[in-house]
Amino acid sequence: MQPINFDTFSSDYERNRKSFRSFISRMENNPPENIDEITDTTDKEVWQEIDCLSCANCCKKMTPTFTAQDIKRAATYLHISPKVFKEKWLMYEEKDNDWVNKSQPCQFLDLSTNMCSIYEARPADCAGFPHLNKKHFKDFGYIHKQNIEYCPATMRFIQLLKEKI
Ligand code: SF4
Ligand code: SF4
Repeated sequence: MQPINFDTFSSDYERNRKSFRSFISRMENNPPENIDEITDTTDKEVWQEIDCLSCANCCKKMTPTFTAQDIKRAATYLHISPKVFKEKWLMYEEKDNDWVNKSQPCQFLDLSTNMCSIYEARPADCAGFPHLNKKHFKDFGYIHKQNIEYCPATMRFIQLLKEKI
């Protein structure tokens, strides 16, 4: 596994941005019959190559959404109330009805190690990120379109899918 090279990642993304997006749209509209099988295998291949601890870009540049259950679990882990948890770190986004981080990087990211300080109690969104192994690609294409700009694993996933399909 190689550490993430952000210069290469950014230039690859910029050079291929349009073709990545049009490929994802094509897969949303007209996926091959065995798309679930292909994404399943490709997800496993991505994690042979990508080391998230050399990256943590999702925790630095994006925010997870916190469900009520996530807030309760993380607050309990930190021995504070959900109310205090929300006041300290979260804001409510009216348009999506979501609780999200007030600022980036995430307050729970240890920048010296790229590790999550509430790992056992992290939000479900973080635990599932970047959602590469979801079934029914057409329902998750928009997520890949959002994440590909920040997430080297998502970009590698789309590159590999493009080579196969
Ligand atoms: S809660 Fe942990 S895994 Fe989630 S964004 Fe924050 S640091 Fe990253
Ligand atoms: S999920 Fe993507 S953005 Fe997050 S640490 Fe892994 S490669 Fe980086």
